[in-house]
Amino acid sequence: MSRSTIPTMTFGNRRCVIAPGPIHPHWQKIAGDKGFDIIARIRDRYHLGLRHHACGRDMIAKLYTLRTAAPLCPHCLSDRRRELCDGAGVTFIAPARPHYLRIRLPCGHEAERQQEFLERVKAGQTEIRCGPCLEARLKAEAEEHGWTLIGPDPNGVRSHRLYRHVCGHVQRVAMANMQTGRFTCHGCAGAWTTDPSHIYLMRFILRSGRIAVKVGFSRNPWSRLRHQLVTDRDQDAALIRVVAVPTGHQALRYEKRLHMTLRTLFPGAELDRAEFASEVRVLSELYCGSIEPEVNALLDDIELRIAALSRRRAKLRRKQARHDERHPRNRQRRKRPAGGPQAGRG
Ligand SMILES: [Zn+2]
Ligand SMILES: [Zn+2]
Ligand SMILES: [Zn+2]
Repeated sequence: MSRSTIPTMTFGNRRCVIAPGPIHPHWQKIAGDKGFDIIARIRDRYHLGLRHHACGRDMIAKLYTLRTAAPLCPHCLSDRRRELCDGAGVTFIAPARPHYLRIRLPCGHEAERQQEFLERVKAGQTEIRCGPCLEARLKAEAEEHGWTLIGPDPNGVRSHRLYRHVCGHVQRVAMANMQTGRFTCHGCAGAWTTDPSHIYLMRFILRSGRIAVKVGFSRNPWSRLRHQLVTDRDQDAALIRVVAVPTGHQALRYEKRLHMTLRTLFPGAELDRAEFASEVRVLSELYCGSIEPEVNALLDDIELRIAALSRRRAKLRRKQARHDERHPRNRQRRKRPAGGPQAGRG
């Protein structure tokens, strides 16, 4: 038989063969009671083409299902899922595991969420959070305050995470506190933020022969190099430059900006972790030695900024001193212990 003689019809977006045989009136009655019309017998003697009264769209169902249960219109189901997702502020992609939907979050990440959970989001009872975005945010917030996000809280408290401070101390911290920075490190009591610090440049010759440079900040770069970074006492490692920075907090800011600049200017210069993992104990921030002159130039710039800043501060102090000489009463007032509206702060 040639293809053209086989009667077919389209159901939904599927082209189906029309099966021979009558559509019995009592089938039509059952279908009608359940909200459908039987349009044709299709595929084989077990399947029917139905039209849903509620939406007017076509679907395929088993005759057996029609007789023993209520067929579920896939179009209406899809509509309901889409509406649910719209209401929850996400985009429906596809059904996932039973009771779960695959969705796209407003940030662009894909995720799977329980339908019941999305109902609650739609009703405003809860919020949907993106895991990868949350991790990225937590990481950035931690870096802002000199901490590195290590992972989940070992005690299993959902509002907490485990972090490592720049001083090396590892501590559980509430995420909300990390956001504001209102807590102290139990390892150094936060002294690093106000203590003098350094931006350093180190050079490593890896066992592969490759020359790598590292920039970072530390209160004591000499000790950091020998006791924290190097895994082998004979490693060819040298501290080649140290820029003194008045406070740890400033050092952290300069260092962050430096890395950002280096990543932008030399996107390929960052070494892959696998290249140095067994030799240098850092998470990232090892660059190819070829950019050492550029790093040095950026450090020159930082040195100039620090010098300019301290000159500005000295000038301000001199100006203040002259002013105080001329207006001794003001100085008295400033020296008096805090009693005004600012009392109790800091
Ligand atoms: Zn329908
Ligand atoms: Zn996201
Ligand atoms: Zn600390």
